[in-house]
Amino acid sequence: MSDPAADIDKGRLLFAGACDFVAGSTRVDNIPETDLPEVAFAGRSNVGKSSLINALTGRNALARVSHTPGRTQQINFFSLGGRLMLADLPGYGYAKVAKRQVANWTRLIEDYLRGRRQLARVCLLIDGRHGLKDADRAALELMDKSAVVYQVVLTKADKAKAELDEIVRATAAEIAKHTAAHPTLIATSAHTGMGIEELRAELAALARAR
Ligand code: GDP
Repeated sequence: MSDPAADIDKGRLLFAGACDFVAGSTRVDNIPETDLPEVAFAGRSNVGKSSLINALTGRNALARVSHTPGRTQQINFFSLGGRLMLADLPGYGYAKVAKRQVANWTRLIEDYLRGRRQLARVCLLIDGRHGLKDADRAALELMDKSAVVYQVVLTKADKAKAELDEIVRATAAEIAKHTAAHPTLIATSAHTGMGIEELRAELAALARAR
């Protein structure tokens, strides 16, 4: 049986260790070849993905907190102590992005999701203030099609206040209909640290043993 306190310690230890930038890939033919277990982070532009990755790793500038959403069209890979690879996927759903860029995004993500055997989990980030939007539903469909296991992580939970319980309930009910979804839904805040230890513990369970 798992011991929650021990899992929290494992998570803390893993994310407090070395975290090194490995590569930024614009196409699947230049993604790093490795057999490390991998966790990817996906979400709409501005969902708080960079902030969450920085909060998880305790670094301020690992994933750049961007003020120009939709610009990066590459997957950034970071190695956590040679035990777990983090893949920061480019954000989607930014209204001002040209059609061609959307097509590029879709191709990159489809190729990545289908071809990445060591991918242990995708954390799909959803804005905790708003819940699922159509662009997120399209991402859910893409993941269903690719048969990857994904987990919904709500962001900016500190801002959601009174609506948070209802958004958690509605989001959980909707993702329960997706077979490839992992049942645990975690509400996080990069600003207050809410849910961060819990998420670290979940992800540490996927890491290669030391
Ligand atoms: P990305 O585009 O998904 O990487 O999002 P960023 O991490 O750049 O964040 C987008 C905006 O949301 C920034 O202005 C952040 O300060 C803000 N933000 C990110 N996380 C949180 C959070 O947990 N709480 C609050 N209140 N704001 C957040």
